[in-house]
Amino acid sequence: MKTHVLISLLLISLSTSAQYSIDITPIDSNIYLYTSYGDVDNYKKIDANAVVVISGNDALLFDTPWDNAQATQIIAFIQDSLKKNILLSIITHAHVDRIGSIDALHKNNIPTFGYYRTAEEAPKHGHTKPEYLFYAIDTNFRCGSLDIVAYYPGAGHTVDNIVLYVPHKKFLYGGCFIKSGYSQTIGNIADADVAAWPESVKKMQQRFTNTGIETVIPGHGSWKSANAIENTLRLLEDKKERGY
Ligand SMILES: [Zn+2]
Repeated sequence: MKTHVLISLLLISLSTSAQYSIDITPIDSNIYLYTSYGDVDNYKKIDANAVVVISGNDALLFDTPWDNAQATQIIAFIQDSLKKNILLSIITHAHVDRIGSIDALHKNNIPTFGYYRTAEEAPKHGHTKPEYLFYAIDTNFRCGSLDIVAYYPGAGHTVDNIVLYVPHKKFLYGGCFIKSGYSQTIGNIADADVAAWPESVKKMQQRFTNTGIETVIPGHGSWKSANAIENTLRLLEDKKERGY
């Protein structure tokens, strides 16, 4: 009797939990934007932008989808539709919208990499640590013929947030460190260092000033705006004026 009650409760909770599908948008011949979705408290279907870079036979994932079901979808897209080999994933910080399906990646034998501070933060949020850690603030990866720079600009949205940059494409993946150009709020600052954040953004701009930044992918919302970085600084300035 008890077992039956438990089973029917489980079925109810399974049937009410939302199942989302990722959206995939090509940005150019080497870069796909993928958007996964998740719920946080009363906020339903929050979008999270992430990226797949492809070159030659290889693919490299920036972050993971929000949940395991959506990880299965992006893996199938890369392996079955694009016919590419997934080299690894680089996690940009230890929140669910970046690291949420790390276990699904490991199950599929996809190695995960992260800045050592992300490994420190992951267990605090109930997530598995990235398998391989890097300790330098500037670390190079390669996918086919494309270089990828993992850069730690300093604390901002979180103490562990990194950005990923493809010099050949002047392409910056800001993750949650960078807001959309259309964003009206600075977003979730529960783990942020809002005092340090503006300096960290400026440090990042300096770092990539030689090669330049043309395309910016923010963590959430539209990327089709030329001023995501400037808007992030403006929102932080507004925040400062209103007091933390
Ligand atoms: Zn976050």
